[in-house]
Amino acid sequence: MQEPQDRPVGHPGTDARPDKDVTSRIDRRLFLGGVGAATTAAMLANTSGTAYAAEEPAFAPLPAEMQPPASASLMALKTFSRIDGTPVYYWRGNRGNTTLRDWRCTPAFYDRLVVWIRDLRRLSEDGGFGNVKFLVSAGFYVNRSGQHGNGTAMDLDLVRWGGGRQSSPLDGHHAGDRTRRRRYLAVDATCRRRFRYVLDGWYNAAHRDHIHADFGGLPTKCSKGSSSDTKFVQAMSNNFMGAGIAVDGVWGPQTEKWFNRARNRLSIEGNPHASIDSWRTMLARVARHGFRNEAF
Ligand SMILES: [Zn+2]
Repeated sequence: MQEPQDRPVGHPGTDARPDKDVTSRIDRRLFLGGVGAATTAAMLANTSGTAYAAEEPAFAPLPAEMQPPASASLMALKTFSRIDGTPVYYWRGNRGNTTLRDWRCTPAFYDRLVVWIRDLRRLSEDGGFGNVKFLVSAGFYVNRSGQHGNGTAMDLDLVRWGGGRQSSPLDGHHAGDRTRRRRYLAVDATCRRRFRYVLDGWYNAAHRDHIHADFGGLPTKCSKGSSSDTKFVQAMSNNFMGAGIAVDGVWGPQTEKWFNRARNRLSIEGNPHASIDSWRTMLARVARHGFRNEAF
């Protein structure tokens, strides 16, 4: 299985932005009280438990007759400045800027971002990080083709916690010291629990300065045929178990051996290649080790 190509976002979609009032009107008509609300309720109900399998697929498409014409579909987007209360800043070209800005994505993608940031908070908590203070993004909806053009993608530049620690894909933390690499893999793992595909600094040079997360390959399972998934497993094996294997995206005997070792050491039940629940549990345990800077 081949992942879609994704380019880093130089500038988010400030162009071709429909009038905000029109957007709100169409959002209400299409989504409030409809599929979006039902999906939100179903997903939020699952955040505290461990039985995640029932929530897939997270978003049932609208019946054909309810879908807006192609020309209007871009207006069926939610505008937001915070995810579940946490501000999302834009630092490209203006580092440190804390001006709130309007981001856009589909309501279903926003719902998933909420579930994701709650995972991130919970999994980083016992590493002593404090709350997630803010995020930095390079873009969500962008006026171009692909997952960004559909409003179902995020480019994550940085996570800052209340205690002052951060993980900065923007600064290439996947290639930093081991503490930074483990923390980056922890953030990466939280993204992989909720999004697919996730493209990171190991995936290709275009992602050396952000983590891309989208809805293009749901559901979330570990696919041996996915270069993105395989590189994540290889980087995880090297940084948490000292495997010393090539991060080449090809699932060979060494990758298989170290993956099974990780499964055993993390006490993972079930098959992460076939079970969403099993893979998500494994990712959560990788994330906890990463935030604690602990080998496994
Ligand atoms: Zn992207």
